[in-house]
Amino acid sequence: MFTCQGFAVDSATDKFKPYSFERRDPLPHDVDIEILYCGICHSDLHTARNEWVGGTLYPCIPGHEIVGKVVRTGAKVSKFRVGDRVGVGCMVNSCRECENCRRGLENYCLKGMTGTYNDPDPETGPKRYTFGGYSKRIVVNEDFVLHIPENLDMAAAAPLLCAGITTYSPLRHWGAGPGKKVGVVGLGGLGHMAVKLAAAMGADVSMITTSLNKKPDAQKLGAKHVIISKDAAEMQKAAGTLDLIIDTVAAKHDLDSYLQLLRLDGTLVQVGAPSDPLAFHVFTLIMRRRSVAGSVIGGIAETQEMLDFCGRHNITANIEMIKPDGIDEAYERMLKSDVKYRFVMDMAGA
Ligand code: NAP
Ligand code: ZN
Ligand code: ZN
Repeated sequence: MFTCQGFAVDSATDKFKPYSFERRDPLPHDVDIEILYCGICHSDLHTARNEWVGGTLYPCIPGHEIVGKVVRTGAKVSKFRVGDRVGVGCMVNSCRECENCRRGLENYCLKGMTGTYNDPDPETGPKRYTFGGYSKRIVVNEDFVLHIPENLDMAAAAPLLCAGITTYSPLRHWGAGPGKKVGVVGLGGLGHMAVKLAAAMGADVSMITTSLNKKPDAQKLGAKHVIISKDAAEMQKAAGTLDLIIDTVAAKHDLDSYLQLLRLDGTLVQVGAPSDPLAFHVFTLIMRRRSVAGSVIGGIAETQEMLDFCGRHNITANIEMIKPDGIDEAYERMLKSDVKYRFVMDMAGA
Protein backbone atom coordinates (compact mmCIF):
# COMPACT_ATOMS: atom_id res chain seq x y z
CA MET A 1 0.00 0.00 0.00
CA PHE A 2 1.07 3.58 -0.55
CA THR A 3 -0.45 6.89 0.43
CA CYS A 4 -2.20 8.83 -2.32
CA GLN A 5 -3.61 12.37 -2.32
CA GLY A 6 -7.06 13.02 -3.69
CA PHE A 7 -10.18 15.18 -3.38
CA ALA A 8 -13.25 13.74 -1.67
CA VAL A 9 -16.70 14.55 -0.35
CA ASP A 10 -17.89 13.07 2.95
CA SER A 11 -21.62 13.38 2.27
CA ALA A 12 -24.13 14.35 -0.44
CA THR A 13 -24.08 17.98 0.71
CA ASP A 14 -20.35 18.30 1.46
CA LYS A 15 -17.85 20.33 -0.54
CA PHE A 16 -14.70 18.74 -1.99
CA LYS A 17 -11.61 18.78 0.19
CA PRO A 18 -8.12 17.22 0.09
CA TYR A 19 -8.12 13.62 1.29
CA SER A 20 -5.28 11.11 1.85
CA PHE A 21 -5.95 7.43 1.30
CA GLU A 22 -4.21 4.13 0.56
CA ARG A 23 -3.82 2.59 -2.88
CA ARG A 24 -2.53 -0.94 -3.44
CA ASP A 25 0.99 -1.45 -4.74
CA PRO A 26 0.89 -2.97 -8.24
CA LEU A 27 -0.08 -6.65 -8.41
CA PRO A 28 1.70 -8.64 -11.17
CA HIS A 29 -0.73 -7.43 -13.88
CA ASP A 30 -1.23 -3.87 -12.53
CA VAL A 31 -0.11 -0.57 -13.96
CA ASP A 32 0.56 2.35 -11.58
CA ILE A 33 -0.39 5.63 -13.26
CA GLU A 34 0.51 9.21 -12.34
CA ILE A 35 -2.71 11.08 -13.17
CA LEU A 36 -2.09 14.26 -15.20
CA TYR A 37 -5.68 15.26 -16.02
CA CYS A 38 -9.16 14.12 -15.06
CA GLY A 39 -12.39 15.18 -16.79
CA ILE A 40 -15.51 16.08 -14.81
CA CYS A 41 -18.54 14.05 -15.90
CA HIS A 42 -22.12 14.70 -14.84
CA SER A 43 -22.07 11.13 -13.44
CA ASP A 44 -19.47 12.34 -10.92
CA LEU A 45 -22.01 14.89 -9.72
CA HIS A 46 -24.87 12.32 -9.59
CA THR A 47 -22.61 10.06 -7.47
CA ALA A 48 -21.04 12.71 -5.20
CA ARG A 49 -24.57 13.94 -4.39
CA ASN A 50 -26.03 10.44 -3.97
CA GLU A 51 -28.65 10.87 -6.68
CA TRP A 52 -28.68 7.31 -8.06
CA VAL A 53 -30.31 4.08 -6.86
CA GLY A 54 -27.62 1.91 -5.26
CA GLY A 55 -26.26 4.74 -3.22
CA THR A 56 -22.89 6.36 -2.68
CA LEU A 57 -20.15 5.17 -0.35
CA TYR A 58 -18.45 8.02 1.53
CA PRO A 59 -15.83 9.37 1.49
CA CYS A 60 -16.29 9.49 -2.28
CA ILE A 61 -13.55 10.34 -4.80
CA PRO A 62 -15.15 10.52 -8.25
CA GLY A 63 -13.39 10.83 -11.62
CA HIS A 64 -13.42 8.40 -14.56
CA GLU A 65 -11.95 10.40 -17.42
CA ILE A 66 -8.35 9.76 -16.46
CA VAL A 67 -5.17 10.32 -18.46
CA GLY A 68 -1.61 10.06 -17.23
CA LYS A 69 1.76 8.39 -17.48
CA VAL A 70 2.78 4.93 -16.35
CA VAL A 71 5.21 5.20 -13.40
CA ARG A 72 5.39 1.53 -12.29
CA THR A 73 4.39 -1.83 -13.73
CA GLY A 74 3.76 -5.20 -12.08
CA ALA A 75 6.15 -8.06 -12.91
CA LYS A 76 3.83 -9.65 -15.50
CA VAL A 77 2.61 -6.54 -17.30
CA SER A 78 3.07 -6.95 -21.06
CA LYS A 79 0.96 -4.20 -22.65
CA PHE A 80 2.54 -1.09 -21.08
CA ARG A 81 5.92 0.37 -20.16
CA VAL A 82 6.99 3.10 -17.75
CA GLY A 83 6.45 6.46 -19.47
CA ASP A 84 3.54 5.35 -21.71
CA ARG A 85 0.64 7.81 -22.24
CA VAL A 86 -2.41 6.00 -20.91
CA GLY A 87 -6.06 6.42 -20.05
CA VAL A 88 -8.58 4.84 -17.68
CA GLY A 89 -12.33 5.19 -18.15
CA CYS A 90 -15.40 4.19 -16.15
CA MET A 91 -14.45 0.61 -15.26
CA VAL A 92 -11.33 -1.00 -13.79
CA ASN A 93 -12.35 -4.68 -13.92
CA SER A 94 -15.09 -7.21 -14.70
CA CYS A 95 -15.62 -10.97 -14.19
CA ARG A 96 -14.05 -11.76 -17.63
CA GLU A 97 -15.99 -15.07 -17.73
CA CYS A 98 -19.64 -14.28 -18.42
CA GLU A 99 -21.00 -14.35 -21.97
CA ASN A 100 -20.89 -10.55 -22.27
CA CYS A 101 -17.30 -10.28 -21.00
CA ARG A 102 -16.27 -13.03 -23.43
CA ARG A 103 -17.73 -10.90 -26.26
CA GLY A 104 -15.61 -7.93 -25.17
CA LEU A 105 -18.64 -6.21 -23.62
CA GLU A 106 -17.17 -5.87 -20.12
CA ASN A 107 -19.40 -2.82 -19.64
CA TYR A 108 -22.37 -5.24 -19.66
CA CYS A 109 -20.68 -7.83 -17.37
CA LEU A 110 -23.43 -10.02 -15.91
CA LYS A 111 -21.76 -9.92 -12.49
CA GLY A 112 -21.37 -6.15 -12.74
CA MET A 113 -18.27 -4.32 -13.93
CA THR A 114 -16.07 -2.80 -11.24
CA GLY A 115 -16.61 0.95 -11.56
CA THR A 116 -13.57 3.21 -11.33
CA TYR A 117 -15.14 4.73 -8.22
CA ASN A 118 -17.80 3.79 -5.67
CA ASP A 119 -17.66 0.01 -6.27
CA PRO A 120 -16.41 -2.85 -4.07
CA ASP A 121 -12.91 -3.73 -5.28
CA PRO A 122 -12.32 -7.49 -5.61
CA GLU A 123 -8.58 -6.86 -6.07
CA THR A 124 -8.23 -5.53 -2.53
CA GLY A 125 -11.04 -7.40 -0.76
CA PRO A 126 -14.76 -6.65 -0.60
CA LYS A 127 -14.45 -4.25 2.34
CA ARG A 128 -12.55 -1.73 0.25
CA TYR A 129 -14.15 0.21 -2.56
CA THR A 130 -12.73 2.05 -5.53
CA PHE A 131 -11.56 5.68 -5.58
CA GLY A 132 -11.49 7.56 -8.88
CA GLY A 133 -9.40 10.05 -10.76
CA TYR A 134 -9.76 13.18 -8.63
CA SER A 135 -6.42 11.98 -7.26
CA LYS A 136 -2.70 11.91 -8.03
CA ARG A 137 -2.27 8.19 -8.80
CA ILE A 138 -4.31 5.13 -9.75
CA VAL A 139 -3.41 1.43 -9.91
CA VAL A 140 -5.34 -0.56 -12.52
CA ASN A 141 -5.15 -4.02 -14.07
CA GLU A 142 -3.49 -3.63 -17.49
CA ASP A 143 -6.51 -5.12 -19.31
CA PHE A 144 -8.52 -2.03 -18.34
CA VAL A 145 -5.90 0.55 -19.34
CA LEU A 146 -5.96 2.27 -22.75
CA HIS A 147 -3.28 3.72 -25.02
CA ILE A 148 -3.68 7.44 -25.85
CA PRO A 149 -2.65 8.21 -29.47
CA GLU A 150 0.55 10.29 -29.64
CA ASN A 151 -0.98 13.14 -31.66
CA LEU A 152 -3.77 13.92 -29.16
CA ASP A 153 -3.39 16.58 -26.46
CA MET A 154 -3.49 14.74 -23.13
CA ALA A 155 -5.82 17.17 -21.29
CA ALA A 156 -8.31 17.38 -24.17
CA ALA A 157 -8.19 13.59 -24.63
CA ALA A 158 -9.31 12.89 -21.03
CA PRO A 159 -13.06 13.28 -21.77
CA LEU A 160 -12.81 10.65 -24.51
CA LEU A 161 -12.54 8.02 -21.76
CA CYS A 162 -16.21 8.52 -20.79
CA ALA A 163 -17.99 11.15 -22.91
CA GLY A 164 -16.20 9.84 -26.03
CA ILE A 165 -16.89 6.12 -25.66
CA THR A 166 -20.42 6.63 -24.28
CA THR A 167 -21.45 8.34 -27.51
CA TYR A 168 -19.17 6.44 -29.95
CA SER A 169 -20.59 3.05 -28.92
CA PRO A 170 -24.30 3.72 -29.66
CA LEU A 171 -23.39 5.67 -32.83
CA ARG A 172 -21.57 2.56 -34.08
CA HIS A 173 -24.14 0.06 -32.79
CA TRP A 174 -27.04 1.86 -34.50
CA GLY A 175 -25.07 2.45 -37.71
CA ALA A 176 -24.35 6.20 -37.80
CA GLY A 177 -22.64 7.05 -41.07
CA PRO A 178 -23.21 8.44 -44.56
CA GLY A 179 -26.91 8.66 -45.42
CA LYS A 180 -28.00 8.54 -41.76
CA LYS A 181 -29.62 11.49 -39.99
CA VAL A 182 -28.49 11.63 -36.38
CA GLY A 183 -29.89 13.94 -33.71
CA VAL A 184 -28.05 14.74 -30.49
CA VAL A 185 -30.04 16.06 -27.52
CA GLY A 186 -28.14 18.28 -25.04
CA LEU A 187 -24.96 20.15 -25.84
CA GLY A 188 -22.85 19.32 -22.79
CA GLY A 189 -19.89 16.98 -22.29
CA LEU A 190 -21.45 13.91 -23.92
CA GLY A 191 -23.44 15.90 -26.48
CA HIS A 192 -20.50 17.80 -27.92
CA MET A 193 -18.54 14.55 -28.35
CA ALA A 194 -21.57 12.92 -30.01
CA VAL A 195 -21.75 15.77 -32.55
CA LYS A 196 -18.02 15.57 -33.36
CA LEU A 197 -18.01 11.77 -33.63
CA ALA A 198 -21.22 11.45 -35.67
CA ALA A 199 -20.00 14.14 -38.08
CA ALA A 200 -16.63 12.36 -38.44
CA MET A 201 -18.50 9.12 -39.19
CA GLY A 202 -20.18 10.92 -42.09
CA ALA A 203 -23.70 11.29 -40.67
CA ASP A 204 -25.93 14.32 -41.19
CA VAL A 205 -26.07 15.74 -37.64
CA SER A 206 -28.81 17.77 -35.96
CA MET A 207 -28.16 19.36 -32.57
CA ILE A 208 -31.27 19.60 -30.39
CA THR A 209 -30.63 22.08 -27.58
CA THR A 210 -32.49 24.16 -25.01
CA SER A 211 -29.80 26.87 -25.27
CA LEU A 212 -30.22 29.32 -28.15
CA ASN A 213 -26.76 30.79 -27.40
CA LYS A 214 -25.04 27.46 -28.17
CA LYS A 215 -26.21 27.46 -31.81
CA PRO A 216 -22.96 28.84 -33.37
CA ASP A 217 -20.86 26.39 -31.34
CA ALA A 218 -23.04 23.44 -32.39
CA GLN A 219 -22.43 24.36 -36.03
CA LYS A 220 -18.66 24.67 -35.45
CA LEU A 221 -18.64 21.24 -33.79
CA GLY A 222 -20.17 19.70 -36.93
CA ALA A 223 -23.97 19.99 -36.67
CA LYS A 224 -25.59 20.80 -40.02
CA HIS A 225 -28.88 21.67 -38.35
CA VAL A 226 -29.64 23.15 -34.92
CA ILE A 227 -33.11 22.72 -33.44
CA ILE A 228 -34.07 24.78 -30.39
CA SER A 229 -36.21 22.35 -28.41
CA LYS A 230 -38.13 25.10 -26.62
CA ASP A 231 -39.36 26.39 -30.00
CA ALA A 232 -42.47 24.34 -30.86
CA ALA A 233 -42.45 25.48 -34.50
CA GLU A 234 -38.82 24.35 -35.01
CA MET A 235 -39.56 20.98 -33.38
CA GLN A 236 -42.65 20.56 -35.58
CA LYS A 237 -40.69 21.38 -38.72
CA ALA A 238 -38.13 18.65 -37.91
CA ALA A 239 -40.77 16.00 -37.03
CA GLY A 240 -40.24 12.60 -38.65
CA THR A 241 -36.78 13.39 -40.06
CA LEU A 242 -34.20 11.54 -37.92
CA ASP A 243 -32.97 7.91 -38.00
CA LEU A 244 -31.22 7.98 -34.63
CA ILE A 245 -31.23 10.22 -31.58
CA ILE A 246 -28.56 10.17 -28.88
CA ASP A 247 -30.21 11.70 -25.79
CA THR A 248 -27.63 12.97 -23.28
CA VAL A 249 -29.92 14.91 -20.97
CA ALA A 250 -29.05 14.55 -17.28
CA ALA A 251 -32.39 15.81 -15.91
CA LYS A 252 -36.01 14.72 -16.14
CA HIS A 253 -37.43 15.64 -19.57
CA ASP A 254 -40.37 14.93 -21.85
CA LEU A 255 -39.43 12.13 -24.25
CA ASP A 256 -42.47 12.51 -26.54
CA SER A 257 -41.29 15.80 -27.97
CA TYR A 258 -37.95 14.19 -28.98
CA LEU A 259 -39.42 10.86 -30.13
CA GLN A 260 -41.65 12.61 -32.66
CA LEU A 261 -38.47 13.76 -34.45
CA LEU A 262 -37.79 10.12 -35.46
CA ARG A 263 -38.88 8.72 -38.83
CA LEU A 264 -40.23 5.18 -39.36
CA ASP A 265 -38.09 2.62 -37.46
CA GLY A 266 -36.02 5.35 -35.82
CA THR A 267 -34.39 4.79 -32.42
CA LEU A 268 -33.85 7.13 -29.49
CA VAL A 269 -30.91 5.94 -27.37
CA GLN A 270 -30.90 7.23 -23.84
CA VAL A 271 -27.35 7.70 -22.53
CA GLY A 272 -28.18 10.53 -20.13
CA ALA A 273 -29.04 9.03 -16.75
CA PRO A 274 -31.54 11.14 -14.78
CA SER A 275 -32.51 9.61 -11.45
CA ASP A 276 -36.28 10.00 -12.04
CA PRO A 277 -38.18 7.72 -14.48
CA LEU A 278 -38.92 9.19 -17.91
CA ALA A 279 -42.42 8.92 -19.40
CA PHE A 280 -43.60 8.79 -22.99
CA HIS A 281 -46.87 8.15 -24.79
CA VAL A 282 -46.99 4.65 -26.33
CA PHE A 283 -48.73 6.00 -29.43
CA THR A 284 -45.62 8.03 -30.22
CA LEU A 285 -43.82 4.68 -30.66
CA ILE A 286 -46.43 2.46 -32.26
CA MET A 287 -47.53 4.78 -35.05
CA ARG A 288 -43.99 4.86 -36.53
CA ARG A 289 -42.49 1.56 -35.21
CA ARG A 290 -40.04 3.66 -33.20
CA SER A 291 -37.76 2.31 -30.44
CA VAL A 292 -36.41 3.65 -27.16
CA ALA A 293 -33.07 2.12 -26.15
CA GLY A 294 -30.26 2.64 -23.67
CA SER A 295 -26.50 2.24 -23.72
CA VAL A 296 -23.72 2.36 -21.12
CA ILE A 297 -20.12 3.34 -22.01
CA GLY A 298 -18.41 0.68 -24.20
CA GLY A 299 -16.15 -2.37 -23.89
CA ILE A 300 -12.38 -2.07 -23.60
CA ALA A 301 -11.67 -3.10 -27.21
CA GLU A 302 -14.23 -0.60 -28.49
CA THR A 303 -12.81 2.11 -26.23
CA GLN A 304 -9.37 1.59 -27.80
CA GLU A 305 -11.03 1.58 -31.25
CA MET A 306 -12.68 4.94 -30.38
CA LEU A 307 -9.34 6.42 -29.21
CA ASP A 308 -7.64 5.28 -32.42
CA PHE A 309 -10.53 6.72 -34.47
CA CYS A 310 -10.09 10.04 -32.61
CA GLY A 311 -6.33 9.86 -33.28
CA ARG A 312 -6.94 9.41 -37.02
CA HIS A 313 -9.54 12.20 -37.17
CA ASN A 314 -7.74 14.46 -34.67
CA ILE A 315 -10.76 14.60 -32.37
CA THR A 316 -10.57 15.68 -28.72
CA ALA A 317 -12.94 17.50 -26.37
CA ASN A 318 -13.37 21.28 -26.08
CA ILE A 319 -12.25 21.81 -22.52
CA GLU A 320 -12.13 24.38 -19.76
CA MET A 321 -9.25 23.62 -17.39
CA ILE A 322 -9.84 23.95 -13.67
CA LYS A 323 -7.91 23.28 -10.47
CA PRO A 324 -9.22 20.99 -7.72
CA ASP A 325 -10.48 23.96 -5.68
CA GLY A 326 -12.92 24.64 -8.55
CA ILE A 327 -14.79 21.30 -8.54
CA ASP A 328 -17.80 22.56 -6.56
CA GLU A 329 -18.20 25.58 -8.83
CA ALA A 330 -17.85 23.38 -11.93
CA TYR A 331 -20.70 21.19 -10.61
CA GLU A 332 -22.94 24.26 -10.13
CA ARG A 333 -22.18 25.44 -13.66
CA MET A 334 -22.93 21.96 -15.08
CA LEU A 335 -26.36 22.12 -13.42
CA LYS A 336 -27.01 25.42 -15.22
CA SER A 337 -25.98 23.86 -18.59
CA ASP A 338 -23.06 26.31 -18.50
CA VAL A 339 -20.20 24.06 -19.60
CA LYS A 340 -18.24 24.55 -22.82
CA TYR A 341 -18.01 21.71 -23.16
CA ARG A 342 -16.11 19.70 -20.56
CA PHE A 343 -14.32 20.72 -17.37
CA VAL A 344 -10.96 19.00 -17.01
CA MET A 345 -8.96 19.11 -13.80
CA ASP A 346 -5.22 19.69 -13.84
CA MET A 347 -4.06 16.96 -11.45
CA ALA A 348 -0.37 17.34 -12.27
CA GLY A 349 -0.48 20.92 -10.95
CA ALA A 350 -2.64 20.00 -7.93
P1 NAP B 1 -23.67 17.86 -19.03
O1 NAP B 1 -22.32 18.25 -19.52
O2 NAP B 1 -24.24 18.53 -17.83
O3 NAP B 1 -24.69 18.01 -20.30
C1 NAP B 1 -26.07 17.78 -20.21
C2 NAP B 1 -26.79 18.73 -21.20
O4 NAP B 1 -28.17 18.37 -21.23
C3 NAP B 1 -26.79 20.19 -20.81
O5 NAP B 1 -25.63 20.89 -21.16
C4 NAP B 1 -28.01 20.73 -21.55
O6 NAP B 1 -27.68 21.00 -22.92
C5 NAP B 1 -28.97 19.53 -21.54
N1 NAP B 1 -30.00 19.67 -20.51
C6 NAP B 1 -29.83 19.86 -19.18
N2 NAP B 1 -31.02 19.89 -18.55
C7 NAP B 1 -31.97 19.69 -19.51
C8 NAP B 1 -33.39 19.60 -19.50
N3 NAP B 1 -34.08 19.71 -18.36
N4 NAP B 1 -34.03 19.37 -20.67
C9 NAP B 1 -33.34 19.25 -21.83
N5 NAP B 1 -31.99 19.34 -21.89
C10 NAP B 1 -31.32 19.56 -20.76
O7 NAP B 1 -23.70 16.30 -18.69
P2 NAP B 1 -22.84 15.09 -19.31
O8 NAP B 1 -21.58 14.93 -18.52
O9 NAP B 1 -22.81 15.22 -20.77
O10 NAP B 1 -23.75 13.84 -18.87
C11 NAP B 1 -25.08 13.74 -19.33
C12 NAP B 1 -25.79 12.56 -18.67
O11 NAP B 1 -25.22 11.36 -19.18
C13 NAP B 1 -25.66 12.47 -17.15
O12 NAP B 1 -26.91 12.02 -16.63
C14 NAP B 1 -24.61 11.40 -16.94
O13 NAP B 1 -24.72 10.75 -15.70
C15 NAP B 1 -24.94 10.48 -18.08
N6 NAP B 1 -23.84 9.58 -18.49
C16 NAP B 1 -24.20 8.34 -18.92
C17 NAP B 1 -23.23 7.48 -19.39
C18 NAP B 1 -23.61 6.14 -19.94
O14 NAP B 1 -22.74 5.29 -20.07
N7 NAP B 1 -24.86 5.94 -20.31
C19 NAP B 1 -21.89 7.88 -19.39
C20 NAP B 1 -21.56 9.16 -18.96
C21 NAP B 1 -22.57 10.02 -18.52
P3 NAP B 1 -28.37 22.20 -23.75
O15 NAP B 1 -27.90 23.46 -23.10
O16 NAP B 1 -27.81 22.01 -25.12
O17 NAP B 1 -29.84 21.99 -23.72
ZN1 ZN C 1 -18.84 9.69 -17.12
ZN1 ZN D 1 -18.57 -10.60 -16.87
